[in-house]
Amino acid sequence: MSENENLKFDSKCVHAGIGDYEHGPVIPPIYQTSTFKFESTQQGAALFKGEKEGYIYTRMSNPTVEAMEKAVASLEGGYRALGCGSGMAAISTTLLTLLNAGDHIVFSEAVYGPTATLIVNVLKRFNIESTPVDSTNLDNIKNAMKPNTKVVYIETPGNPTLAITDLSGAAEIAHSNGAVLVVDNTFMSPALQRPFEHGADVVVHSMTKFLNGHADVVAGIIVVKTQEDYKKFRSVLNQLGGVIDPFNAFLVHRGLKTLDIRMKKLSENAMKVAKFLESHPQVKWVRYPGLESHPQYEIAQKQQSAPGGMISFELKGGFAAGEAVMNSVKLCTLAVSLGGVETLIQHPASMTHLSMGQKAREEAGITEGLVRLSVGIENADDLIADLEQALEKASTV
Ligand SMILES: *Cc1c(COP(=O)(O)O)cnc(C)c1O
Repeated sequence: MSENENLKFDSKCVHAGIGDYEHGPVIPPIYQTSTFKFESTQQGAALFKGEKEGYIYTRMSNPTVEAMEKAVASLEGGYRALGCGSGMAAISTTLLTLLNAGDHIVFSEAVYGPTATLIVNVLKRFNIESTPVDSTNLDNIKNAMKPNTKVVYIETPGNPTLAITDLSGAAEIAHSNGAVLVVDNTFMSPALQRPFEHGADVVVHSMTKFLNGHADVVAGIIVVKTQEDYKKFRSVLNQLGGVIDPFNAFLVHRGLKTLDIRMKKLSENAMKVAKFLESHPQVKWVRYPGLESHPQYEIAQKQQSAPGGMISFELKGGFAAGEAVMNSVKLCTLAVSLGGVETLIQHPASMTHLSMGQKAREEAGITEGLVRLSVGIENADDLIADLEQALEKASTV
């Protein structure tokens, strides 16, 4: 492991977390076991006391899971990582580790929906207050800080508006108020953005998305910077129990090997698709961090090495045009989620946010013609041709 730390990022993707195993397999074996045999009561006792390294029970640790965790920690530049059963398990474990009753959390308003619900509805039941802010303006974070603010929680680019927050600015505000900065780095992955380099204290991911990258696993991860944090988080995760299982950890570790190459290719594709959309007469606006029209383009240039695969755009034809595009695409797959090798397309107003009603959608910034695209690694020309024919259908509704 340690000699891999000096490797370049793309080499690390291939080699990080790979150790030596019995019989010399090139890939870490899947230790599909719930529990581990002790050699003696004395050895079992030494493991429980932490005097000896080893495995006891898979909820506590497992070699296949640990190999993947070491890989993600290395890619993010953290100390260690904790594999979780989903992105939400990683986020809920993080917040329940860091916050106590009576504390306050400031969070970006453009966060993943269930994250906002967790903070606003669930944490509230434990007497934890929260303030959502438009974190693209750092003054809003500063003004929301209170003496009991313990966490600043940022997702950048955020969901679904792709609003971008200046990470080093947010870290400075959090730290000068004695709070920690937690960053959800799902949309970028460490291939394109490494929040620890900008002052973050904890990084979380839905590995369901880019880290695994193949739309066949639900998983999450917490990455921490210090041994002290690692112990604290591991203890809470062990009690809450939302761990990843060995088989999913194996799949994610396999996905990581192509992370760098996937993120480069899908960023290139997304840039071409975004430019095509921006020039299309049926499209009102396009939000993509690689376009100069993005309101936080400068910040994106500073903290992201490429713009990523997520594009939001608004159709001039509104709700009906959105439905028409969804029902006309052939290569793009009509599905929620993101971050896979295949391009996914979604129309929040007629799908995920339909039950909210138009008025509530408007208040939440979910406009009627808003389309979200997670660009994959297909040929960009094929993607553009597919969108072109779907937009053509939308022009007649
Ligand atoms: C999907 C997602 C999550 C939640 O992850 P799950 O693996 O679905 O639990 C959290 N944050 C972001 C930004 C996401 O896209």
